[in-house]
Order: sequence, then C-alpha cells, then structure tokens
Amino acid sequence: MSTMQWCRYRNDQLLAEDVPLAELAAEFGTPTYVYSKAAILAAYREFALAAEGRRALVCYALKANSNLAVIELLARAGAGFDIVSAGELARVLAAGGDAAKVVFSGVGKSEADIRAALAAGVRCFNVESEPELERINAIAGTTGQRARISLRINPDVDAGTHPYISTGLRENKFGIAHERALAAFELAASLPHLEVQGIDCHIGSQITEIAPFLAALDELLELAGRIEAAGISLSHLDLGGGLGINYQGEQPPSRRDLLAAIFARVAAHPLGRRYELMFEFGRAIVGNAGVLLTRIEYLKSTPVKDFAVVDAAMNDLMRPALYDAWHGVLPVLRRDSAQVIYDVVGPVCESGDWLARNRPLAVQAGDLLAIESAGAYGMTMSSNYNSRPRAAEVLVDGDRALLVRHRETLESLYALERRLPPEA
Ligand SMILES: *Cc1c(COP(=O)(O)O)cnc(C)c1O
Repeated sequence: MSTMQWCRYRNDQLLAEDVPLAELAAEFGTPTYVYSKAAILAAYREFALAAEGRRALVCYALKANSNLAVIELLARAGAGFDIVSAGELARVLAAGGDAAKVVFSGVGKSEADIRAALAAGVRCFNVESEPELERINAIAGTTGQRARISLRINPDVDAGTHPYISTGLRENKFGIAHERALAAFELAASLPHLEVQGIDCHIGSQITEIAPFLAALDELLELAGRIEAAGISLSHLDLGGGLGINYQGEQPPSRRDLLAAIFARVAAHPLGRRYELMFEFGRAIVGNAGVLLTRIEYLKSTPVKDFAVVDAAMNDLMRPALYDAWHGVLPVLRRDSAQVIYDVVGPVCESGDWLARNRPLAVQAGDLLAIESAGAYGMTMSSNYNSRPRAAEVLVDGDRALLVRHRETLESLYALERRLPPEA
C-alpha cells in the first residue's frame, strides 16, 4: 500500500483507514505520527507470501520504526528482526519477539551489546570486522557459548541511492572487503567459540531497481563457493534490506517481484539450493504506512516566499534536512480556495528546518497537514533539539485509534538532569 491507499479523502476530510485525522489531532494533539496497522501488515505479508515454501526468514529492520506496537504486530505475523543495538534487542524482547529470530547487525557492537545478545540467544551476529570476531569469541568463551556468526561482506555494488544511505561501496565503513573475505572466514572458523553460519551484505537503502540486489547476490554466491571450497560450510545467505518505496513517484520493484527474482537467481546456481535466505527490510515494510500529522501555526509571507510554519520540525522528521528528502504533503481538510506555493517549515532555529518546499496548498492558519510516507526513519531519528518534546504515536486499525506512545512531557525533557549542588 502507498500512503494514499489507507490515507484518503471522504467528503474532503482526510482519513487514516476509517478515522478522520482531524479527530486524531483533537484527541492526541500535534505533531503526531499516525501508522496504519493494515498497511504495515500488508507490506510484511507481501514479503512473507513471496517467501512461502522457501527456506527463508524475512526480518524487519527495527531502526526504521521501533515502536513496541509495530514490533509486536510484526512479531505476531511471524517476522524475524534485524537489530543494531542492545536497545533494539530490549525492544524486541519487551514486545514479545523471539530472540531466536533476531540477527544483530552493526559495525560497532560493544561488549555490553554482545553480552546482552548472547544472554538472549540471538539467532546470529552479523560481524563486520576481524576485531569484532575476536571480541565475540572472547566473550562467548567466558559464558561457555558458541556464538553463531555471519560475516558482512562489502560487495562494492553501487546501489544508486543517496550517498548517506549507500553502504555497499568500497569507501564505506561497512562490512569486510571482498578480497579479504576468505581470510576473515578462515579466522572465524579457527576461533573455538564461534560457529560460522552465513554470509551477509546490505548495500544501501531506498534502492529502486532489482539489479543491484542481484549483483550483490552473485558476489555472495561466488564467495560462498570459495568459502565452501576452503572447507567452511555455510547455512544461510543474508541479503540485507534496502528496498525503496514511493515517496515522489519512484517506481521500485514490488516486494514480490524482488523476492521472486532473488529466489530464481539462487535456484539457478549450483550452490544456491543449499542455503536458507534471510532479508532485513525496514523502509519497505513501514515507510508508506505512516504519516506525520501537524498543524499550521502561521502563514507567513515574505517578499520572495510564502511559508506555512507548522508545529512539526526537523527534530520530528529529520529526513528532509539530512538527505534533502521529499515527502508529500496533504491538507487534512480539502478547501476549494486558490492554492498558494508554500515552503512548509518548522519552528526550530535552523535554516535546514523544513519539511517540504514549493508546494501548492489551499490552506489557512490552524489547518492540519499530513506529511506522507513518514513511517520509516521518522520517529526513530527524532530528537529533543530545541527542547521540543517528541511527538505522540498512534496506530489506527479500521475505525479504532490506539495511542502507542505518549507525547513527551516538558518535565521528561530534563528528568535525567541534575541542578548544581548549592556550593558549586
Ligand atoms: C538499515 C539497515 C537495514 C534496513 O534498511 P532499509 O533500507 O530500511 O530496508 C537492513 N540491514 C542493515 C544492516 C541495516 O543497516
């Protein structure tokens, strides 16, 4: 589903599933993230259906949206999880997820991260360097465990996406270079408290073509052949995540077509049938399943521009400021007055604090706007910059709305801070 399939107009009022967004703003205030249960589940199920009958695990990459309710929905639907911190692991466990379906990615796992993951019994560590192999081996030795590991290979594939979200190129910090991979696997196999299970990659995010995924898969298969020839057997290939969504008319392959192409390629390879396949999709599961609901505080005209100053800002949705990202903007009440071209900006004291530029809108001060496709990398990248309490989060399910995160209070902003002692 695109945002437009669950967020649509009835009598010029924008609804989230069957709930008027104006009602959500009245009940929960703004800014508020609004997610569609049906859209999240439909996206996950399209992957799950495409993988049905295959040896495959579709993981959800938590960093896209780590609200407990979102995790729980996906855990109940059978998803695995891709995590990058002990905090994300704690969220999976708190939401009732199964550690045996968790893969632990990330380039800088701390000792505490590794201990927590071993204690929970995660499915696999996706290891990114030789020193990390040594560290996991040492810690597993102290707990009497054998840690299941996969090595992340940097396949030097250009995902054709924004440089900040492209991770498979040689100059990135991620993964182990292709030419060092075999030696790294040999090191891993020699360490007594590690059990080598797989090989993984993740080439970037918001990828809108199938070809880069297949190029990365070909590299993993070629490498798997050499690793097996060296006497190290593997049981899974993990292709990471990165499938893009429609923000501004992009036409990424469907979830089904991507997985079908990957399974076909694997089936055609002599070694391919041996391996379980794993995936780690974030954005493609939740990105189009959320909007950011915000209210216009002021309409401000300058000699050169008109601004809609809204109560959401770069601290709530950082993607425009960080990646120059484009998000659609829908008025919650459709008016038939003339449109004016606005920049939609927030109250934060930065020129980078904008959500959308040059958008024709027929709006008045006090009107509500829905910022589209904000379900991924929205709330999870939010901050308290300018001492702004973070937004509420609401999950809609048909005509019901569940508050799944309270708006932060002013007191919570400094609850962990301490005033100076009197003598200081
Ligand atoms: C961020 C990330 C993902 C998810 O990426 P999406 O583009 O949201 O699908 C998967 N795997 C790893 C290792 C990541 O860092």
